Amino acid sequence: MEPEPSGPEPGERLAEDPDSAVLAAAAAAVEPLEAVVDMEPLDRPRRLLLVHAHPDDESIGTGATMAKYAAENALVTLVTCTLGEEGEILVEELADLAADRTDGLGRHRTGELAAACEALGVTDHRFLGGAGRYRDSGMMDTPSNSRPGAFWNADLDEAAGHLVAVMREVRPQVVVTYDDFGGYGHPDHIQAHRVTVAAFEAAREADRYPDAGEPWSPAKLYYSAIAKSSLQAGIDYFREAGIESDFFSAELTSADDLPFGVPDEQITTQIDAREQLPAKVAAMRAHRSQIAVDGPFFALADGAGRTAFGIEHFVLARGERGPGSGENDWEDDLFAGVEPSRRG
Ligand SMILES: [Zn+2]
Repeated sequence: MEPEPSGPEPGERLAEDPDSAVLAAAAAAVEPLEAVVDMEPLDRPRRLLLVHAHPDDESIGTGATMAKYAAENALVTLVTCTLGEEGEILVEELADLAADRTDGLGRHRTGELAAACEALGVTDHRFLGGAGRYRDSGMMDTPSNSRPGAFWNADLDEAAGHLVAVMREVRPQVVVTYDDFGGYGHPDHIQAHRVTVAAFEAAREADRYPDAGEPWSPAKLYYSAIAKSSLQAGIDYFREAGIESDFFSAELTSADDLPFGVPDEQITTQIDAREQLPAKVAAMRAHRSQIAVDGPFFALADGAGRTAFGIEHFVLARGERGPGSGENDWEDDLFAGVEPSRRG
């Protein structure tokens, strides 16, 4: 086990960050329930657990949903599987942290993630197996796949055991991760899927991981998804605005030409969290080593891109689908059909 990296204190980082005002405002908008009434985490009737691969995935993929449920005083627990050591660094002054130089990016990103969670109003965050237990594997078929500790090579039983312990501790009714393609094929996202599915099945079995707490059976498992219709809206927005980027090239006209995105027919759930868009944007800004503030993501978050960013989609993978609404009969709540309950 590697020593636990000591990332910068969230407050310390925020003080010197040019975006601190935005982050502070977003964080102040959400008052943790414990600060208002005397309450234990398990007293919250609705509990949501999200499993993500790297710092920043939570904000990009599910940030609006996390902020929405946190603002509604559900318990939102985030488990991040790696520190994101292999991420591409977009900020010049941080270039020295690269994996092939000082390899300090993971430690730096723990600070970015803390600031992002603050912006989202999420107070319960953990790293799978503890910070630094699993290393970012980098993109598929690169040498970093085989670096010591790479999550891609993690022992599945051991990694699932860490997650089972979290599930039995916080007792979520709803669990969220990626589909078996990891959304877009990154090895750590695929591994996060495998680990989460294994833990979801094992958490309820008393004879599995008997030292990891009392069995707990989450009611629903979801895969986060980018709906093809949302991708199309993004493509149309960029074309109309005349914005070009690596991601949205001028030749790209149809979401069907992208190797990811889920057809709308397969979507089961749509969370409209447009009210939380400022929190999501603030959280993404907190990941400043990874997401260029002048890049396409932030351009999209403006104006007509609000819908594509503030509305997030999911596919129910385990459990009973709750009542839906609208023309697609999609659920509008991850807890639809789930009986909220304290503790058990
Ligand atoms: Zn990722």
